[in-house]
Amino acid sequence: MRPLLLLDVDGVLNPIGRPPPGHRRYRCVVDGEAYVVRLNPRHGRQLLDLAEATGAELVWATTWEEHANDWIAPRIGLPSLPVVTVNAATVPVSEHGEMFKTPAVAAYAGRRPFVWFDDQVWAEDEEYLRVHQGVGDFLLVHVDPAHGLTSGHLGTAWEWLTLTGFSQGS
Ligand SMILES: [Mg+2]
Repeated sequence: MRPLLLLDVDGVLNPIGRPPPGHRRYRCVVDGEAYVVRLNPRHGRQLLDLAEATGAELVWATTWEEHANDWIAPRIGLPSLPVVTVNAATVPVSEHGEMFKTPAVAAYAGRRPFVWFDDQVWAEDEEYLRVHQGVGDFLLVHVDPAHGLTSGHLGTAWEWLTLTGFSQGS
């Protein structure tokens, strides 16, 4: 089973507040609304290297959903990626304090091992996924939204996939 690398946009690829070095400003228009995002063009290469080294599949887990393929991926050198649908009105309101995306991630991943990069994953999400029937092994990588994704986070993911034996890289 190929592991998944689940990627958030806001607070991860697009840090909140004053952007760290290496980020550039870009304008986006989503459903008629204008946004400014700050992206680091090196992130694409780093994520592709991680995916290649571990045999994992990169997948969006962001409220940007399909828009991430139009406005984010091309600017950092990522190809079009599959999308976890997180905005659907069918997702029930949380009873245990987990984030709104977490049930959607559980359903999408199933038994596949996954690493999830997000600035809003907490102990409640960890707990939800641990007890949820049908979810395999996973690692939640909490990203500080002020700094966004760092090589430290990518290294943590690589290490976990490699040490657990989920890596399918050479
Ligand atoms: Mg976020």
